[in-house]
Amino acid sequence: MSIGYFNGQFIDLNKAVLPIEERGHHFGDGVYELIRCYNGKPFMLKEHIERLFNSAKEIKLKIGQTKKEIEQLIFEGIEISGLLNSDVYLQITRGIAERNHLFPNVPVSISMTVKPWKEMDASLREKGIKTIFHPDERWANCYIKSLNLLPNILAKQTAYEKGCFEAILIRDGYITEGTSSNVFIVKNGKLYTTPLSNQILPGITRMAVKKYAEHLQIPLHEEHFTPEELLDADEVFITSTTAEILPIVECEGKRIGNGKPGDITKALYEEFQRFIEL
Ligand code: PMP
Repeated sequence: MSIGYFNGQFIDLNKAVLPIEERGHHFGDGVYELIRCYNGKPFMLKEHIERLFNSAKEIKLKIGQTKKEIEQLIFEGIEISGLLNSDVYLQITRGIAERNHLFPNVPVSISMTVKPWKEMDASLREKGIKTIFHPDERWANCYIKSLNLLPNILAKQTAYEKGCFEAILIRDGYITEGTSSNVFIVKNGKLYTTPLSNQILPGITRMAVKKYAEHLQIPLHEEHFTPEELLDADEVFITSTTAEILPIVECEGKRIGNGKPGDITKALYEEFQRFIEL
């Protein structure tokens, strides 16, 4: 059963009402995490909580709970939902206060939903996805997982309207990441992904792929690459909590590699599946 939580209370999602004077609602003044649970176990929970606390610190938001307490809240939510395969969405905002740009002196708000996740359309996974390039119009602090996602939403919608699954963002002539994913390319047996900086989100799945690549002895270079290099790659894939590891076979109408998901992408995805079964 899907469930909700708001400031200390588990609630029926259909009955949940958020106060209008909520800074998440007013300003998108908050941070969030999306954590996927496989067989009741949250995937890389510690890493998600670390990132959440880091995002909060970077926007000067003081979370009232400890990391352990947040972890317990997540486990409680999963247990109450009774779901084995769920997505936990956790959002922390600067609280409930009259609309004013300056920080209010009120407790932060914590909300959470736990919902079942649906397996992605099998054909996308088997055949790979189509993508477009799009200018990266976001702010300078994309390493913070903030609620402000307007440029991401607009670019993703543009991709969708062109029959594509994801927009790959370009800043200063280089690929940064997807609107809701990190991007990897494979060339001559080597993996490349954009290095961590304030320009991209440090994806948890990206971190997992680094580990799998090491295990499979595939060299990984955290280096910038251009749209031309992406189009010329042997394989391209995105990573994210919900897409997991998803092959890209087309970008801007141009075929990538042989137009089919590549062997390295498949090997990494198998490694991922092995890992979540542990
Ligand atoms: N970049 C952006 C902009 C994202 O929104 C996401 C999804 N949270 C990712 C990368 C991938 O991160 P993760 O693997 O932690 O889901």
